[in-house]
Amino acid sequence: MELRIALAGNPNSGKSTLFNGLTGSNQYVGNWPGVTVEKKDGTYKKDKSLKLIDLPGIYSLSPYTLEEVVSRDYLLKESPDAIINVVDASNIERNLYLTTQLAELGIPVIIALNMMDVVRKNGDQINIKALKEGLGCEIVEISALKGENVDHLMDVAKKVAEEHQKTGVITHVHEFNEEVESYIRQIEDNVQALRDNKNHRWYAIKLFESDPKIEDKINVTSDEKEFIKKLQEDADDKLDDDGEGIITDARYEFVTNITHKNVKKAKEGMTTSDKIDRIVTNRILALPIFAGIMFLVYFITIKVLGTPMSDWVNDVFVAEILQGNAGAWMDSAGVAPWLASLVNDGIIGGVGAVLGFLPLIVVLFILLAILEDVGYMSRIAFILDRIFRKFGLSGKSFIPVLIGTGCSVPGIMATRTIENDQDRRLTIMVSSFMPCSAKTEIIALFAGSVFTGRWWFGPLCYFAGIAAVIVSGIIIKKTSMFAGDPAPFVMELPQYHFPSYRNVIRSTYDRSKAFVIKAGTIILLAALGVWLLQNISVDFEFHTFDQDSKDSILSAIGKFFSPIFIPLGFGNWIATVASALGLVAKEVVVGTMGVLSGIGEVESGDANAIALATRLFTPASAMAFMIFNQLNVPCFAALGAIRTEMNSAKWTWFTVIYQTVFAYTIALMVYQFSSLALGGAFTVWTGVAFVVLLAYIYLLFIKKPNSSKRKVKEEAALQE
Ligand code: GDP
Ligand code: MG
Repeated sequence: MELRIALAGNPNSGKSTLFNGLTGSNQYVGNWPGVTVEKKDGTYKKDKSLKLIDLPGIYSLSPYTLEEVVSRDYLLKESPDAIINVVDASNIERNLYLTTQLAELGIPVIIALNMMDVVRKNGDQINIKALKEGLGCEIVEISALKGENVDHLMDVAKKVAEEHQKTGVITHVHEFNEEVESYIRQIEDNVQALRDNKNHRWYAIKLFESDPKIEDKINVTSDEKEFIKKLQEDADDKLDDDGEGIITDARYEFVTNITHKNVKKAKEGMTTSDKIDRIVTNRILALPIFAGIMFLVYFITIKVLGTPMSDWVNDVFVAEILQGNAGAWMDSAGVAPWLASLVNDGIIGGVGAVLGFLPLIVVLFILLAILEDVGYMSRIAFILDRIFRKFGLSGKSFIPVLIGTGCSVPGIMATRTIENDQDRRLTIMVSSFMPCSAKTEIIALFAGSVFTGRWWFGPLCYFAGIAAVIVSGIIIKKTSMFAGDPAPFVMELPQYHFPSYRNVIRSTYDRSKAFVIKAGTIILLAALGVWLLQNISVDFEFHTFDQDSKDSILSAIGKFFSPIFIPLGFGNWIATVASALGLVAKEVVVGTMGVLSGIGEVESGDANAIALATRLFTPASAMAFMIFNQLNVPCFAALGAIRTEMNSAKWTWFTVIYQTVFAYTIALMVYQFSSLALGGAFTVWTGVAFVVLLAYIYLLFIKKPNSSKRKVKEEAALQE
């Protein structure tokens, strides 16, 4: 007989550690249907009849965040045979708020009192027996990190689940104060649909709270609605709060009571973690320390390990070993040139583009996993959140943006550490605006030619990137898709500890694998498509891509589309084709222009570079070209990463369209305004640029639609 057991608990309570420990390699990581919240399924490695599911980390079962909705929909619709509620014993008071909600679902709850190693080390005392009685459920003390007592936990869970299956009896649940209980009871007694519903208490509470997602799930007649409304008005008179507020307060009251009686902290003094936090989250030191650590991550990933390894993969492994040998072999075997080119440039080149990113990604993910496991990641979010909130981003958005300055692909992948769905999507959309290392080649081209001696050109590109992130954050947050409340910032700061190599390896492996599989397919297809376009001429003959390829399909397309870029100042077919090929990889933009213009090899600052840049661009159009290529969809590899991380075609398209429109309009303003400033005439397009400017100002300053006061209250209460 198979039993399904769900793991639920606050973020950072140790669910994933427990889940990984219990399932070992018997787990499957996917996504909840239709959303990007991660879903982990598995079986208990010592008893295959126990199916486990790791629910998203949540602080409550309210309907405000996607994680909460996913968790509660699963619990209500699938009704698993038991819930293991993972509770951080070193932070028990806050964790039990969720416990009170889980216990009302009509599903047996077993509390896994985790982090007991920390509790013991601190010397805190917890009266387990009294807690058990007060909460009405089994409690098993464990340490997920050290694997202590977890098998016993599973024995208890199995027994409880089987018992419940046989008898259907739920041990009594906690009770709120008499006043609140009487409101709940009156709803239970007067709503017909609740009479034979096994979750009657849960629904009664939700009806009293006027939970918007529940009202249409249960059949309530208009008379009954009227009755509930009367109760709520009565309660508002007496307790001066709405239904949801009253229940929230009642929960806190219950939890505070029970913990004050039964949990005794040994030292009033500080734990080691508190001492570290005094320095690390200190008002003055926090940011410099953070900057130092981030610099180190960036430095190791991009400079020390990642890029040299990626270069080796690209230049030696793919180019010399794979393409060199394949080329020589195909030559000697007399393979037709078009086929040889397809295999070498199209297929091996395409796969190589994916492989080349892999070392970067693996190094980055190992470092991030260590920071995460040590407990520093939650501090980063804590430190930066106040600043980032102002731009509609979360504290955790910083890392992807920073990493994106090296390469967008690992930057986008780094958004995985952002738990909130909306924050993650938004960060994915903006993290590629920074100039990545490939884009710096374009910067270098112009810095050494059109802008020689203008030291500010390079830094300007970085500032433009930062400004683009901030402006987009503010604007996108105002669209209806992000109209929900920002996720409240309640963050457990877990105790620091040495990273577990198993956690680090597991998360690095999962993340890298996802990239290779999904991004790989997109990049390969795209590379093949581009190969076709640039090597086949308009009369369907094969040419290799060089000066003569003026009549390749790609060039024809370039010529066709180049007028689009006239308002941006670079409406020539060479710049158009180069921008299009930039979608394959930004590294090829400069080289392509060299080839197509017949100038040949271009090195930053050399005579060819100067000839090329001055022939094709003016200062104003160079600036616009730079900005357009910097803000536009980065490259196919990044697009693959976006697709993987968004896990939704709709959101991928939205990102592509947003980035294209954003890049185009900003470049338009850059070109038109700088032309005007440099003494150009006022044209129709200058007018259009002013209209666009007004539109951006309007979008930046209109008010965001509603925001709920409830969340603010819950947040305030949690932060006490
Ligand atoms: P989740 O967010 O609930 O999935 O929590 P994680 O499993 O990611 O754990 C959060 C942090 O707590 C990680 O750094 C874990 O290594 C750590 N952790 C988990 N269980 C224990 C435990 O029993 N003792 C200690 N000291 N740390 C733990
Ligand atoms: Mg987790």
